[in-house]
Amino acid sequence: MEKKKYVYLFSEGNGSMRNLLGGKGANLAEMTNIGIPVPQGFTVTTEACNKYYDDGKIIAEDIINEIHEKMVELENISGKKFGSLENPLLVSVRSGARASMPGMMDTILNLGLNDQTVEVMANKTGNPRFAYDSYRRFIQMFADVVMEIEKRSFEDIMDEMKADRGVTLDTELNADDLKELVIKFKAHYKAVKGDDFPSDPTVQLIESIKAVFRSWNNPRAIVYRRMNDIPGSWGTAVNVQEMVFGNKGNTSGTGVAFSRNPSTGEKKIFAEYLMNAQGEDVVAGIRTPQNIEELAKENPAVYEQFMDIVATLEDHYKDMQDMEFTIEEGKLYFLQTRNGKRTAQAALKIAVDLVEEGKLTKEEAILKVEPKQLDTLLHPAFDTEALKAAAVMAKGLPASPGAACGKIAFTAEEAKERHENGEKVVLVRLETSPEDIEGMIAAEGILTVRGGMTSHAAVVARGMGTCCVAGCGELKVNEGAKTLEVGGVTYGVDDFISIDGSTGNVYAGQIKTVDPEISGYFGTFMAWADDIRSLKVRTNADNPRDTAQAVRFGAEGIGLCRTEHMFFEADRIMAIREMIVAKNETDRRAALEKLLPMQKGDFIGIYEELQDKPATIRFLDPPLHEFLPHEDDEIAELSKELGITFEALKNTVESLHEFNPMMGHRGCRLAVSYPEIAEMQTRAVIEAAIDVKNRLGYDIVPEIMIPLVGEVKELKYVKDVVTRTADEIIKEAGIEMKYMVGTMIEIPRAALTADEIANEAEFFSFGTNDLTQMTFGFSRDDAGNFLKYYYDNSIYESDPFARIDQVGVGKLIKMAAELGKSTRPNIKLGICGEHGGDPSSVEFCHNVGLNYVSCSPYRVPVARLAAAQAEVKNPRSKSCDSSAEEVAASTNN
Ligand code: PEP
Ligand code: MG
Repeated sequence: MEKKKYVYLFSEGNGSMRNLLGGKGANLAEMTNIGIPVPQGFTVTTEACNKYYDDGKIIAEDIINEIHEKMVELENISGKKFGSLENPLLVSVRSGARASMPGMMDTILNLGLNDQTVEVMANKTGNPRFAYDSYRRFIQMFADVVMEIEKRSFEDIMDEMKADRGVTLDTELNADDLKELVIKFKAHYKAVKGDDFPSDPTVQLIESIKAVFRSWNNPRAIVYRRMNDIPGSWGTAVNVQEMVFGNKGNTSGTGVAFSRNPSTGEKKIFAEYLMNAQGEDVVAGIRTPQNIEELAKENPAVYEQFMDIVATLEDHYKDMQDMEFTIEEGKLYFLQTRNGKRTAQAALKIAVDLVEEGKLTKEEAILKVEPKQLDTLLHPAFDTEALKAAAVMAKGLPASPGAACGKIAFTAEEAKERHENGEKVVLVRLETSPEDIEGMIAAEGILTVRGGMTSHAAVVARGMGTCCVAGCGELKVNEGAKTLEVGGVTYGVDDFISIDGSTGNVYAGQIKTVDPEISGYFGTFMAWADDIRSLKVRTNADNPRDTAQAVRFGAEGIGLCRTEHMFFEADRIMAIREMIVAKNETDRRAALEKLLPMQKGDFIGIYEELQDKPATIRFLDPPLHEFLPHEDDEIAELSKELGITFEALKNTVESLHEFNPMMGHRGCRLAVSYPEIAEMQTRAVIEAAIDVKNRLGYDIVPEIMIPLVGEVKELKYVKDVVTRTADEIIKEAGIEMKYMVGTMIEIPRAALTADEIANEAEFFSFGTNDLTQMTFGFSRDDAGNFLKYYYDNSIYESDPFARIDQVGVGKLIKMAAELGKSTRPNIKLGICGEHGGDPSSVEFCHNVGLNYVSCSPYRVPVARLAAAQAEVKNPRSKSCDSSAEEVAASTNN
């Protein structure tokens, strides 16, 4: 058997080897192949990372040997030698997973420096300041990333020295200062670790590669993966690349470029750079960078070459590129390229423009926009009138659009904690770093004092769709004292601020927000998605307002109308309570009579909004005790209103108590006990449909859905009540009206016996909230309390209530769908659990042949796009697209 290869020179790979080489490695190989000036190097594969974990966090001997062999090849290519006292080779060591995870994992630069090679570098370049600056950065990074010594402790040493020299900028320290700093850094290293800083470059290299592998499982990488559906099993590759230096003096520099504007999508190269700096200075946002147009003045030849390469890369990848470049003494290099993260607005504009420029097909363009990102387009912006009245207290860079308002939180931990306690906060930081990820997720918006449009805060916020204002230098933030000062006014943790990520404006106080309007690129793009997809998208809605909103967002009907939500409203709850305390059927019917017109009115409103789109009405589901109070004083008050004694009501409350209410007297069990409830609900649905049909002419086919069925006979029992009632009303009305009766599949037994159930059910809707709860055997309400331990230990990677567990719950869905079709080939299949709006779950639903997904109104566009993407990835016949009417026509009620 041929020996497995774990290390590839850039010249041995290509762009299609992403899974093995990671995105960065594959792109470096591809760039090398198409002749872009790339410092050469090699990639240690993702398989090596997985093997490292499989072997108990050890890099196997043969992989280490392969690394050494490639290092020799790299030495030959570069004409330099690792650790050489004549021409030392220095390298960077960077992570690079299949999917880009900006800033989540570790990087080490200037590797190969030690007390000897630094001197050679100083002499060769005639620039000892540069050599010692590189060395001190390397010690700091290696200590932080590989040895986990706090970065801050090195910064403190440096700050002390700056104070001592009476300077404020790093660049004001001279070569001798930096030389002394290196001695201090190494002493600090030894004091903390007990060992000397490793001077052997080979040891430095292998330890750094291990550290990058380890960083695959650091907490922020795990959180990022969970947010972005990236499996832990992918592992990261490691790229070892010859260093080029942007900090060799005033003819050197480094920067970040986007081939189009990542905020607006404008077709114009957007790039920033800093002269005499290393990449980390730009990304960390410590110094504010210059616009690339300045380079046209400083070095027109390099500027022109730069613009050419950017255009070449975009044309090659047919997508907006995010690139890192370095100019070393006037020579330009590209260090990496990737498809750039972008705002939702930019993503849509770029996708539509690329199709119009003839560079992409519509199908390819559909895959370029992250469905979850569309969310950001659908959320509020500041009310223009309220905004006119507000005074701008400061202005920063419009780093990520949207509007946010909240009280000020000064640390990520504080933001997270206050968010968990129900407060809305805006995270205000000098600058953010990857450790802040959880606080950034928790915050309504992010405001930083330092950093440009490509700073960590800006890039991460755009990716998350969180509003962000960066580089707001006017603010004086004291993170320790938790104060923010501007214009002579001091703000603290109890003060509100509002930030506008589209303008960069910062305001004191709260500003009213308004719902967004969707048009232009969104409309064009979503119309393409609708043309492509075969999976329908409905919404979960139980009132006319939400229905109207969902229809505006493109919903093709209602997939779940939870009727109990109509009972909870203040003017109705009394009637339902009367029904619950009723002693006999007559009293219960009297109470239900009161509910009938209300419920019918709701359905009329909904049918009017839907016009002739279908609606699945789910009958009463929750345990009855949810409608009653539990505290004595509330029971006493209610007993007076109901005209019964305290004891009698207390008795009822106690008799309804259940140890496991989620597994108790709920769902269709209520209708089995009290068929008159199902009768009343049927009456309300059918009478409403008849009313709207007669008045407005819509061809309504009501879909009545019985919840929590586990046995075909219980479905049949309730269905008989429904059909008896419905047929009588339709007959009395003297009109033609078809209707359907179906069930939710949300109990494992229903999935297991779906072939029997399909004898009675004309449709299935997978209630994956309950199905997940009952399949896993843990509560949908408080599993969060312990799931975090499961994430920490990589037992589960994502919340099974948010993303379908395809292995277990998914198997039940697939099986039930197949069993259902075996009895009733035309059975209509949908999903209405929360998963219906989650892109990866939508893809799963497409793949198992469901007809539709149903999700909350604001997730409808997300689901429409996810459905289109699923179709592009795995085309299926549009015959799955049978509408309710077609299915109804094929059934015989
Ligand atoms: C479900 O269980 O998935 C469902 C949609 O019903 P509910 O959330 O109302 O229990
Ligand atoms: Mg349910």
